[in-house]
Amino acid sequence: MAVLVVLLGGASVAARLDDSSSDSAFPGRPDDAASAPLGAPAAGGTASDAYAFIATQKGGSDPVTYDPCAPIHLVVDARTIVDGGMKLLEQALDEVSEASGLQLVVDGLTDDEAPEGDAVTGPDRTWLPVTVTWSDPKASPKLKGDVAGYAGSSSIERDGHRWFVTGTVVLDGPQLKRILDQRGGRAGVRSVMMHELAHLVGLDHVDAAGQLMRPSGDESITTWGAGDRTGLAAVGSGRCIPY
Ligand SMILES: [Zn+2]
Repeated sequence: MAVLVVLLGGASVAARLDDSSSDSAFPGRPDDAASAPLGAPAAGGTASDAYAFIATQKGGSDPVTYDPCAPIHLVVDARTIVDGGMKLLEQALDEVSEASGLQLVVDGLTDDEAPEGDAVTGPDRTWLPVTVTWSDPKASPKLKGDVAGYAGSSSIERDGHRWFVTGTVVLDGPQLKRILDQRGGRAGVRSVMMHELAHLVGLDHVDAAGQLMRPSGDESITTWGAGDRTGLAAVGSGRCIPY
């Protein structure tokens, strides 16, 4: 029997720095930022228009993206994590990196609650890491019903251009445990993570066959479709943040 997994849409939030009119409120260049993109999207493949962006630049069609010149840091709240969940997350991150060229790095585990509201920087004036939270429907009511996860990023503006700088991914541990226990369960759980991570880096749902970014997934689709890949290449090819 096919497992139908309903995956909630991604969302983006336009965040405001504490004092966005002042340059001093803008974080300095991260220590690990480079002067050129750290990676490049996978070459080849069939271009497809079966993708959509979560957010676009004001007055244009270019996507809002993360800075390709710096790694995207993630921390994991593993409260309801499934067996092998960290390894599956690393595999899903590798799939996103390979398709987009973006570098996504897990810094470790956290016990901190994901930040509320639109905070994008921490006390040390660096961008907050992305929080990947293994939750459940009681703690995260948006996971009720068939929703296996949701994700989104917050953006800031500089010189008239927007960038995502941090975000959240929330996964339904008990539901992913049920998927994991089915035949092909590891690929199923990994594909839910790939879907949510693609939201994180800027892809929206698309109603097209064969794409992981369809709003509801099924176990037969566990790899990127041509539209997913084209979209991920686009969100991996944004501008670098001018610090
Ligand atoms: Zn979704």
